[in-house]
Amino acid sequence: MQMKFQEFDLKLTHRWTIASSLGPGGAGGTEIFKVVFVELRDKNGVLGIGEAAPSTRYERGIESVLSFLRQVDADRLSFDDLSPSMEYLDGLGSGHFAAKGALNIALLDGAARLSNKPVCDYLGLGFTERKHVTSFSIGIDHPDSIRRKVAEAESYPVLKLKVGSPQDRQNLAALREIAPQKPIRVDANEAWKTKEEALGQLEWLAGDGAIQFAEQPMPATSAPRDLAWLKERTPLPIMADESCLSANDIELCADCYHAVNVKLMKTGGISGAVEALKAARTSGMKTMIGCMIESSVLITAAAHLAELTDYLDIDGNLLISNDPFLGATAEGGIISFAKTPEPIGLRVQSRDPLADRRSIHHSETATIQVENC
Ligand SMILES: [Mg+2]
Repeated sequence: MQMKFQEFDLKLTHRWTIASSLGPGGAGGTEIFKVVFVELRDKNGVLGIGEAAPSTRYERGIESVLSFLRQVDADRLSFDDLSPSMEYLDGLGSGHFAAKGALNIALLDGAARLSNKPVCDYLGLGFTERKHVTSFSIGIDHPDSIRRKVAEAESYPVLKLKVGSPQDRQNLAALREIAPQKPIRVDANEAWKTKEEALGQLEWLAGDGAIQFAEQPMPATSAPRDLAWLKERTPLPIMADESCLSANDIELCADCYHAVNVKLMKTGGISGAVEALKAARTSGMKTMIGCMIESSVLITAAAHLAELTDYLDIDGNLLISNDPFLGATAEGGIISFAKTPEPIGLRVQSRDPLADRRSIHHSETATIQVENC
């Protein structure tokens, strides 16, 4: 097996700020999000593509991904049998979920291509068109910008508003000026530090009448008894995100939350996400597949798991201006494979086939920044 990987800067259309990156006076946030694309190719030329979009909330970032990938002996990886490949990767070190996730996705892409099936069918899940709708996220901002962003997102039927700033009330009011009826979700990203503060905010939000649920109201490090206290009293369903990394967290989350947000970059790829989503459903929770700021590689990988979810929040590729890949589409928020050029595997394709040859370098060589596709 040959392995290549390439660092790439995804450019955000709007500066992206959430509660955990909010600085004094509304400063903070980012305009660039670094990812790494991974390509595996077996001796017959079968290709597998993956992506790592590491969040510094969970790991050390891009350098950590690159150092893990440099350790990998690609000859130990195979599209024929994924378990030994993943055991080998786990043996290289604990953590590194983004790098392992990229390789897990590339391996599944190749394995599904060998079976002549899309990944969702290879996994036995299938995919129903015109059923799965993603929310579109509005980051923390000033009310004027919120109005503009909500207007720009008119075609998306469900929005997700990031909260946890001193301007939450003005921001929600600004959203409602432009989209008075639209169902929305909110995400506090661990902003409310006590159970009483969280309950107060959730009671205020419930007054809106069209909020489906609130993500991660309190820090993941909160005492489970405080989270369970909140679950008992909250007027809005609450969903674990930062509290739920993998299937190992599902049992505790079931006591503290009504739902979980599973992400490929927390679970170490598709295999771990399937395990977490199935475990969450078995425990009676609602499920969502979510994302980081990502290209269409990871978003499309997540879309293959839609049948295991009640909600989708896979809009990372909609928030960037230089997505180098084509994959599942989200016209009007509806996730679809109908216009996807690749019929099998992950169903992603480089926007510029020449870019593959021009910019992806072998693992032995230094990675370079490439120009936008
Ligand atoms: Mg979240």
